[in-house]
Amino acid sequence: MHELAKTGRWLGGTTPTGYSSESVQKVTTDGKAKKACKLKLIPEEAEIIKLIFDLYIEYDSLTAPESELMKLGIKTKNNKHFTRFSIKSILQNPVYMTADETAYNYLVKENTDLNSDKKDFDDIYAIMAYNRTRQEKGKAVTYLPPDKWIVAVCLHPGIIPSKIWISVQDSLNRNKSKAYRKPRNNKALLTGLLYCTCGNRMYPKISKQKTANGKPIYIYVCKLKERSKRTLCNSKNANGNTLDVAVIEQIKLLEDDKGSFIDQLEQSRKFYTRNRVAYEDQIASMQKNKSDIDVMRQLLSVFKDSIDEMTVEQKRSAIRTLVRKVVWDGVKAHIILFGAQDDDIEYPPLSQFSNETNAAEDDDILTKTHRGEDIKRDFTVNRLI
Ligand SMILES: [Zn+2]
Repeated sequence: MHELAKTGRWLGGTTPTGYSSESVQKVTTDGKAKKACKLKLIPEEAEIIKLIFDLYIEYDSLTAPESELMKLGIKTKNNKHFTRFSIKSILQNPVYMTADETAYNYLVKENTDLNSDKKDFDDIYAIMAYNRTRQEKGKAVTYLPPDKWIVAVCLHPGIIPSKIWISVQDSLNRNKSKAYRKPRNNKALLTGLLYCTCGNRMYPKISKQKTANGKPIYIYVCKLKERSKRTLCNSKNANGNTLDVAVIEQIKLLEDDKGSFIDQLEQSRKFYTRNRVAYEDQIASMQKNKSDIDVMRQLLSVFKDSIDEMTVEQKRSAIRTLVRKVVWDGVKAHIILFGAQDDDIEYPPLSQFSNETNAAEDDDILTKTHRGEDIKRDFTVNRLI
């Protein structure tokens, strides 16, 4: 890594926003031509980098730049929204810092393994830091502190003046120590299962309100709504306390009316099978379906009898044995049971109901349909919220 660092080469991989990779011929000391890569500035992307630094400095926060960039419709190289994580990783990347005397002093002070002389920090080029991240198998990337970096001045131009880049690092460190871990809601049952009609996940958040018994009320909020500050999605939050209970109650009801529900399920599967597969497969498949349905029957029965006695963790996994996904449209929750493929699921349109008076009239189960293997159960919990 030291040898590579000294050559100041770009080692390949995803180039940082602001640059592309460019091939250059290099002649080594023994006269052989060698191919190497260096980073080349992309002016339009460099403007995005400057904007990200400006926004961070203006707001002293990572969430404000995130929603500002969304509003402006500015996306990453891969056409995704910038997240606070991608913004932070840009702010922390020393590749953007111009290599001048201030940068040199900073890198010496931070005890980096420096492979260029002071005279190389001539305010023309920028640095590359190797060994900045570590990724252990199956784990998220962790960023290593500067004293682990192997640094060299390279042949690409910097984008951010060193003084600004360094002050942003100080600010990020300050904010890190201030930051508290978001209190993880350990009551919410639908985390990971609940989706907004816009297709994004909804996650639980403790609200300031409390129930009559003084229990904290949590709400489920659409991630896109929160991140875009309502500019890209403005659907209604769901009351978590109420929705979780309502979903459980609805699943219990499936057991109560299993005569009709399971029968319908069975019928639909037979129909489905008859139309799709050859005769021999049909028999096997029908037998398999029969056992699936027996399992379903047992699951529903166990669910109904024991759910109330379960711990939160057990409830979560019990719900996951039956429910593939829950879509909240602002008024109704649509429960999609097992067997549904992700792309088969049509998100229900945003509910027609604009006020609670209308919605409350249909407080009970609204529809119960099945197409192919998707079994949906829709209901409204609006009155309760
Ligand atoms: Zn949404």
